Amino acid sequence: VDESVSLGRIAGIRIGVNWSVLALAGILVWQLAAIVFPDTNPELSGGAHLLMALVAALLFLVSILLHELGHALQARRDGMAIDGITLWLFGGVARFGGQFPGAGAEFRIAIAGPVVSLLLAVAFIAASFAGALPESVAVVCWWVGQINAVLLVFNMLPGLPLDGGRVLRAALWRWTGDIRRATDIATVVAKGVAALMIGGGLALAVLAGSALSGVWLALIGWMLLRASAGEAQNARVQGALAEHTVADLMLPAAAVVTAPLHQPLPEFLADAGWRGPFSTYPVTDGERVVGLLPYAAVGAVAPERRAWARVADLTVPLADVVVLAPGDRLDHAVDRLETLELERAPVLDGDRLAGLLSLDDVRRMLRGTPALGGR
Ligand SMILES: [Zn+2]
Repeated sequence: VDESVSLGRIAGIRIGVNWSVLALAGILVWQLAAIVFPDTNPELSGGAHLLMALVAALLFLVSILLHELGHALQARRDGMAIDGITLWLFGGVARFGGQFPGAGAEFRIAIAGPVVSLLLAVAFIAASFAGALPESVAVVCWWVGQINAVLLVFNMLPGLPLDGGRVLRAALWRWTGDIRRATDIATVVAKGVAALMIGGGLALAVLAGSALSGVWLALIGWMLLRASAGEAQNARVQGALAEHTVADLMLPAAAVVTAPLHQPLPEFLADAGWRGPFSTYPVTDGERVVGLLPYAAVGAVAPERRAWARVADLTVPLADVVVLAPGDRLDHAVDRLETLELERAPVLDGDRLAGLLSLDDVRRMLRGTPALGGR
C-alpha cells in the first residue's frame, strides 16, 4: 500500500494515509447516516444522523490507527526498525524493516494490536452504558465499541498475515524451532480461512441477499489469500538469502573501480569513464576505504564547479553508509541495504576493500533461482 498523504508523526512513527481510505470513510458514513443511526434513533433529524456518522467514522479510523500504533510501539521495544503506518481501504498496515528477531517477539508484536482493540471495545461499550451521556453520544460510543470488538475478532482469525495468523506462526515457530516450516503450516491454515471467507461472503451475497456485506467479506478473503501467498514467498526468499553470505554475491575488489580521495574530480571521471559505468565508487585513502562516491552526486555538481572539485568534496563518509563484512549473512545485509537510497554497500575486510554488494545483484540472483519463482 502506497502512502499518498503524510499526516506527520506520532511518537516518532510516520503516519500516512492512502487515498483509498476516503472510500472506506465514505462507505462507512453513508451506511451509518442512511441505515444504522436512523434505525437506532428515529426521533433525530437527518443532520444529526450525519453528524453522528461523521464522528463515529472518525473514531473508527482513530481506533485502527491506535491498533497499528500498538503493533509499532511493541515492535520498536523489540528492536525492530519501523517504516511507518498507513491507513487504507481495508484498515491499517504497520510496516517494519527486516525480519522478526524471534518467535517471542513476533508473538508480542502481533498481540499488541488486538490488546489495544480490546481496551477500546471495553472502554466505549462501558461509556455507552454509563448513563450520563446524551442518547446520541451513547449510541455512537456503542457502535465504536462493537466495531472495535469486530475488529478484534477479525484480526484474531488464524490467517497469516492477520494478527491471529502471526500468533499462530509464532507458536508453531516456538514449537518446531523452524520458521520456514511454521510459515508453511500457517500459510495452509490462512488459505483455508480465506477460502471460508470468500465462500461465506458469496453465500451471504447470493443466498441471504446482503450484497454489500457479502461482497465486502469475499473481497477481504481474496485479499487475505493474496497476502498469505506473499508472506510465504517472502519467507522462501528470506530462507534462500539466509543460506548465503555477502562474499557469495559481492563484486570482488579486483573488479571494483575505486576513487582516490585526493584526486581531482575531472581526472577521476576521465579515468573511471572507460572502465565501465558504476553508480557508486568506494573512495580510498591509500589502501584504506574512507567512504563512497555516488555517481548521482557528481551529476548534482554544477558543470562550471566540476572542474575544481575533488573526489573528497563529494565523498559520503563511512559513518553515513552501511558497511558489510564478507562473512555477514546475506539476509541481514539485504535488510540493512533496503533502508538506504544508495542500495549499495562497501564490503570491508578490516579497513581494506573486499568487494561491493548491490541490491540489484541480489535481486538478479533471486530471479535466477527457479524455486523462488522470481519476483
Ligand atoms: Zn493488527
